[in-house]
Amino acid sequence: MSLPSFINWIDDQQSHMVQTTRDWSNINSGSHNLAGLSHMAKTLTVAFAPTGGEVEILASDPMEITDGYGDISKIELGPILRITKRPHANRRVLLCGHMDTVFGQDHPFQVCRAPKDGEMHGPGTADMKGGIMVMLMALLAFEKSSECANLGWQVVINSDEEIGSFGSARVLKEAAVAAHAGMLYEPSMPDGTLAGARKGSGNFTVTVKGRAAHAGREHHLGRNAIAATAQIISFLDGLSGKRQGFTVNVGQITGGGALNVVPDLAQVRFNVRLEAIDDQAWLLKQMDQFLNIANDQDGIHAALSGGFSRPPKPMTPELDRLFALAASCGDDLGISITHVATGGCCDGNNLAAAGLANIDTLGVRGANIHSDQEYMITESLTERAKLSALILHRLAQTSENFFSKEAK
Ligand SMILES: [Zn+2]
Repeated sequence: MSLPSFINWIDDQQSHMVQTTRDWSNINSGSHNLAGLSHMAKTLTVAFAPTGGEVEILASDPMEITDGYGDISKIELGPILRITKRPHANRRVLLCGHMDTVFGQDHPFQVCRAPKDGEMHGPGTADMKGGIMVMLMALLAFEKSSECANLGWQVVINSDEEIGSFGSARVLKEAAVAAHAGMLYEPSMPDGTLAGARKGSGNFTVTVKGRAAHAGREHHLGRNAIAATAQIISFLDGLSGKRQGFTVNVGQITGGGALNVVPDLAQVRFNVRLEAIDDQAWLLKQMDQFLNIANDQDGIHAALSGGFSRPPKPMTPELDRLFALAASCGDDLGISITHVATGGCCDGNNLAAAGLANIDTLGVRGANIHSDQEYMITESLTERAKLSALILHRLAQTSENFFSKEAK
């Protein structure tokens, strides 16, 4: 079938898309690099200006962190970019991305290599500066369509996705409630397969305090925080598999010091993944019961902090419909659109929990994300931008009944 001319326009943008993605990836925007994130937000503001949307730069809420002593403090996060066009249209789409990467200023992986063999290696090329480029080009193309007036859209690009989106949760939820369908720009698999259902996730810390004593003279007076923590770790590890798809990953332990001192402080940090939302309450109850037993020991005090940041994202009839629409757009472009369940999670989980059906891997095709081998497949920039532009176009043409959701 012949494609609308605004779709074919995207083909002419390939070299511009590669070069701009390269420039963006060369800006360090690690989740804690506030100056870099601010630079990135300003750069994106300029890049998105031609879409004609109203641009706002919002402050994130501060994020709570637990230090090595179990004390909780708050840290500042980078800005949120929000762009809104036709907010009063009857059909509204939310497009989301994140400008932060997992690579801090002190990480050796800082610079993009020149594209070679159809791939471009660099920090954030796939996750997700290439994805933001796909989103931008899809919007620019869609705005050339004669039917664009039927569809309102909002873009939200946050600065803290890689660390759980605690500071942008409020803005994301507000945007999810106001929209009828969601499009997110995490990378797809190298072969183009998208993510369907996603597990939920939470990060926790248990801080255990005991009593210090001389290991030789008064060992009996000490209360060993490391030994108590070891029991807790063994308990946590045993929870994996107790519920369908439920896992605990003990990721970090710290504690103790000199070998002739009974240690009075130890800490374990762990990540939980789950398929069923009820498993959140189940885990908290298990932890409560076990920590009560731990705390019955003389001189031991164990406390849990942290929480669930991403609820599970199940397949729903609304999401099935959205995937079917995306697949039919793929057919028009000659690409097959399929999806698989994954244990990974992203802002798509949170938007789904706020009631917004969303496809969350509409970004570039790429791989090895979160490692210094990250790359994107350069031809996927135009390929995926055309897919998104066509999805927007189709949503603008679809009857309002397509959206079973009542947006506010
Ligand atoms: Zn990402």
